[in-house]
This record gives sequence, structure tokens and C-alpha cells, in this order.
Amino acid sequence: MLRTKTLVIGGGPAGATAARFLAGNGADTILVERDFSYVKPCGGGIPSSALKEMDIPEEKVTKRIITKMRIVSPKGEDIEVEMKGGHLCVTERGEFDSYLREAAKDKGASMLEAEFMRFDDIGRNITSIIKKKSTGEEIRIKSDYIVASDGITSRTVSGISPSKCGSLYTISAHIKPDSYDACEFWFGSNHASNFYSWIFPSHGYSSMGTGSTNAKELSAFLDNFITRRFGVPMRDFAPMNFSKKTRAFRIPMWEGSLFNIKNILYSGDSAGMVMPITYEGIYYAMKSGEFAAQAISEDKPDIYKKLWKSRFNHRFLLMSKIRNLLFKNDENIEKFVALHKRPEVQEIAMKLWLRKEAGSGSLISYLNFFRHFLKI
Ligand SMILES: Cc1cc2nc3c(=O)[nH]c(=O)nc-3n(C[C@H](O)[C@H](O)[C@H](O)COP(=O)(O)OP(=O)(O)OC[C@H]3O[C@@H](n4cnc5c(N)ncnc54)[C@H](O)[C@@H]3O)c2cc1C
Repeated sequence: MLRTKTLVIGGGPAGATAARFLAGNGADTILVERDFSYVKPCGGGIPSSALKEMDIPEEKVTKRIITKMRIVSPKGEDIEVEMKGGHLCVTERGEFDSYLREAAKDKGASMLEAEFMRFDDIGRNITSIIKKKSTGEEIRIKSDYIVASDGITSRTVSGISPSKCGSLYTISAHIKPDSYDACEFWFGSNHASNFYSWIFPSHGYSSMGTGSTNAKELSAFLDNFITRRFGVPMRDFAPMNFSKKTRAFRIPMWEGSLFNIKNILYSGDSAGMVMPITYEGIYYAMKSGEFAAQAISEDKPDIYKKLWKSRFNHRFLLMSKIRNLLFKNDENIEKFVALHKRPEVQEIAMKLWLRKEAGSGSLISYLNFFRHFLKI
């Protein structure tokens, strides 16, 4: 039986960040990740301000810098937005996650390539059953705390938490070329529902994909998007030959109900912490890992929820409200895109998304634009 103060389950952005802050605060920390070479299906886009805030040197993790966005409405209204006051850093997720785990290791966290199987005891001390990747051996780890950061397919949630958040479905692929100079967001109910279709240029390839509330629609939606964007159906779309494999993956719908159950603190996708509308999750996963680490370092697990809520709750609530209105139909999305032609709306969107400005001023102005425009 191993013993540690905190066992971090999952070595993605949430878990690796929690481990970095915990070990940095001098706490005895073990992180278990079932596969160190895992590459999460993801566009890998992170605002430069988010990397700076998390003290991650962007030149070490960025494959491509993007400074423009293209937004296309269901009817074909096409707008280009220059990013101001920052840029988007496109990372490669396998490399990015490894970088974060190395940073945690440098601070003193122990890393174990092993799969969390189940909790044996969640009393005052928590006993977890872990299966080592190298030998298949099952071992027990006793800890005072758990940071549960095992993503949307979380085993730490199932069986324990009554609140399991809902999810959307995505399908994505790597395509050639990488010569697009903007990240593109395409809206339209025949290729994305409650979501957008995207192209994110990276280094040597671009990530392309779409999302839906219904998994069964995904392939048809991707086909429709390719036909709309490139003028040919998927079967004739040559850049797809670069990566025949499409990957389907879930993304959480934030509900804001899961933070901690006693000394088990849920962070990142396992707690549904993905921003509605943009579906940005990496920054929020890292911040939740940081907050979980702070709560554990102070031996006050209940302050985790307070820390998260005081920073992000209004933002998430308002964005999910706007999302619910917006994604009702193409007519509202048309208005949403038209609204973003206005420089003052672009400026507020940049403050909220790209520059990650805290405070509620920009948020209220953003909502007011929507109220007026959508007549809500
Ligand atoms: C198609 C797609 C595109 C996206 N694009 C973007 C984007 O461009 N920008 C952005 O900000 N967000 C994006 N997101 C969201 C983002 O990928 C997630 O929000 C983010 O990865 C969450 O981090 P996490 O650490 O909580 O979970 P994860 O990144 O999922 O990490 C969980 C880790 O836990 C490990 N694990 C799972 N089960 C176990 C177990 N039983 N035992 C041990 N280890 C386990 C996994 O191997 C994994 O390493 C995208 C999501 C999708 C699906």
C-alpha cells in the first residue's frame, strides 16, 4: 500500500496543473495517468493570456500562432475578426500535456503510469485501487485527498456522484494543408447542432470537426460541413486522405453542480468545466486544478467551490443563458454573427475570451448587447 497526502487521478491539463501547484506548495503528491502517450482529441487552442496567467512559456508549447478568426453564419455572412491584445496559441495536446506533467514532476510530484480502477474506501482516508500499466498489477493508494481529473469519461464520477453532467458529441480529423491563416467557426443547423464546425490550423496539419447533441448525426454533419466549406463531399475530399481516421469524442455541457464530495475534488472535464458557446476547456481545466490545489494545501476542501465560483460562475451562467437562446435556431445564430460585426462587440468578446479579463463589467455589457439584439 502506497501512502500520500493527495492522489491526482488523470494527467491532462486539470490533473497536471493540480499536481504542479500541490507539489509546489510542498504537499506529498502522486499523479496517476493511464497512458503517458495519450493524445486527447482537441483543437489545442489556448489564448496567449491564459498561458501567461498559468506561467507556461508559450514558445515551449505553441506549434502555431493565430491572430485572426473567421466566423460564418448559417446564411453565409462571413466576418473576419482580428485578435487584439493577444493571440491564440495552437498546441499539440500530447506534447502540451507532457509538458505540464514534466512541470509538476520538476516541483516534486511523483508520476505513475497506471489506471484508476475504483475507490475501495471513501471514509476519512481514501483508498484507491490502481492498475499499473507496466505489470498489470493492482495496488492500493491511501490518501487524504483526491483530485479527480480523469476527463469526461470519468470513472471517479460514476458510482459516487449523483450529478453526472450532460454532454455534446464531436467528430474531428486532422486534414492537410495547414495553410489557413485564421481559425474558422462555421454555424448552421445542417452541419452543427448546439455547436459550430471548425478549422484550427496547426503545424503541418489543421484540425477540422463539428459537434452535435446527437451522436448519430455526427458523420452526416461532417459530410455536410465539408461539402459546404470545400464544395465536395467527404468521399471526394482529398485532404481527408491525410488522416482517414475521424475521432468521435464527448465534450461536457456545464451544469455547475459538481465540485467536491468530501475530500474528493473534481476538476476540469470530469466536473463539466467547459465554457458554453466557445467550448473552451483547457484554461478552465488548469484553473480548476490550481483552485483544487489551493483548497487542499489549506486543508479546506470546501473553499474549492467558493474559489471557482467567485472567479467564473457569472461568466459560465451568462454564457449558458446566451447559448440556450442562441442555439435555438439558425435565425438567432444569424443575429449572433451579425452582432459580432460591430467593433464594440468584438472588443468585449476579446476581453472575455482572449484576454481573460476578470470582473463583471464586460460580461454585463456583452449580455446587454444580446438582450437588446435578441429582444430578451
Ligand atoms: C474535439 C474537441 C476539440 C476541443 N478543442 C479545444 C480547444 O481548441 N481549446 C480548448 O481550450 N478546449 C478544447 N476542447 C476541450 C478540452 O479538450 C478539454 O476541456 C480539456 O482537455 C479538459 O482537460 P482535463 O484535464 O479536465 O481532461 P482530459 O484532457 O480529458 O484529461 C484527462 C486525463 O485523464 C486520463 N484518464 C482517464 N481515465 C483515467 C483513469 N481511469 N485512470 C488514470 N487516468 C485516466 C486520460 O488519459 C487523460 O490524460 C476540445 C474538446 C474536444 C472534444
